[in-house]
Amino acid sequence: MPRPLIGVTTYDRGAHIEPDAGPTFFAPCDYLDAVRRAGGMPVLVPPGDPGSDEILSAVRGLLVMGGGDVDPRRYGSDGHPSVSGVDLERDDFEIGLIRAAVERRGPFFGICRGVQIANVALGGTLIEHVPEVTDGSVPHSAVGGGFIDHEVTIAPDSKLAHILGATTCVAPSYHHQAIRTAAPTLTVTARAADGIIEAVEMPAHPWFVAVQWHPERSALHDLLQQRLFDAFVRACEGP
Ligand code: MN
Repeated sequence: MPRPLIGVTTYDRGAHIEPDAGPTFFAPCDYLDAVRRAGGMPVLVPPGDPGSDEILSAVRGLLVMGGGDVDPRRYGSDGHPSVSGVDLERDDFEIGLIRAAVERRGPFFGICRGVQIANVALGGTLIEHVPEVTDGSVPHSAVGGGFIDHEVTIAPDSKLAHILGATTCVAPSYHHQAIRTAAPTLTVTARAADGIIEAVEMPAHPWFVAVQWHPERSALHDLLQQRLFDAFVRACEGP
């Protein structure tokens, strides 16, 4: 069987990786390596292409990765001083892709920003700055920025628990926003000990799973996290 093509989004064109190269779309290798280990063939789909349906007809599934904050106006918020990395082109592009993936019932896997933009695309809202709404007992990013592990608790009857074969896991975490109100079609399937929403899925959709943590960061060594990519790629292979 040929490997399924997996559409993987990229960061916005704001990055300048080399001084003279101009704006640069990029994608951290961890996401692509995890898809390849699962047997998928990742293809990058950078922001700015209006053809959501054309893109999704060319690939078997869609992975939306981490990145900057969603424009707060998208979910009726006045914003917050901590909001950063907003990119209107990327928001537009990913919202179009996610709505099309729902319409087409194609496999969707969202990670970090991916869970946030999916929730907003489908009518939910976000917490603009997590440290302001929790007791601080669970750090969701390292002091000064960067990854930190925390535990999440997973609903036993969820697709997520079925995929992981577990109802808790260690989640590499690096975020300052999170879902506030889940979109009407999404069900919350995991939380951190401070109550922050860490995963959602769409029960009415064949394979729509999104997590707030970063399974790609630990999947090489943590086979539990690799299972998310394995299950996603299996769903992309179809029956
Ligand atoms: Mn977290």
